Amino acid sequence: MNVTVWNENRHEKTNPVVAEIYPEGIHGALAGFLREDDHNVTTATLDEPEHGLTDEVLESTDVLVWWGHKAHDEVKEEIAEKVKQRVLDGMGLVVLHSAHFSKVFQKLMGTGCDLKWREADEKERLWVVDPTHPITEGIGEYIELEKEEMYGEHFDIPAPDELLFLSWFEGGEVFRSGATFKRGRGKVFYFRPGHETYPTYHNKEIQQVIRNGVKWAANTNTPQPVRGNHQPLEKIGE
Ligand code: ZN
Repeated sequence: MNVTVWNENRHEKTNPVVAEIYPEGIHGALAGFLREDDHNVTTATLDEPEHGLTDEVLESTDVLVWWGHKAHDEVKEEIAEKVKQRVLDGMGLVVLHSAHFSKVFQKLMGTGCDLKWREADEKERLWVVDPTHPITEGIGEYIELEKEEMYGEHFDIPAPDELLFLSWFEGGEVFRSGATFKRGRGKVFYFRPGHETYPTYHNKEIQQVIRNGVKWAANTNTPQPVRGNHQPLEKIGE
């Protein structure tokens, strides 16, 4: 399976705290543990030509992982449209943390995707609300993160096809932090944790969820649907 990890890679260049936590960039950390599974994992970043997402790259990508935050506006409209189209054609998409506000996710959801947020070094407990789902496999009742950014409801998304995690925060808010959506022939998994100033992507349970999410999002030869005017299969009105 070909996995492409996309990251805007800006905080890593400007904030020494982030650079220390993720010396290879957030994309490097994500690619590192995804390679533990038998995938061909490559990375792409905002400042590369075409953001590293050429037609060739998109065409050969089975699952795209997306992390973005401060530079969503710099993603070219044309590239975001191409990514959306590839998802509708069957590419899997795993959307992480602040990529809730990415052009790609907003286009696929059709809503504003806004939410409540706060940076206060508070505890997050992600409760598994669908223990039978392949994405929550290997995870216990909950995942606890000592320090994370808070995201709170209301999260402006359409009702998810499946809700997998519900987060509780020390300050009292809750958030739908793991959710799946089907769009066209493609599968989308949104997973909340991963604020850049915390070592969240070094957490083994968080890594497990993302690894599971990548496997789940891959298209397993879904047949191309037949549409349009169609001849009857049986004789009509005989
Ligand atoms: Zn954040």
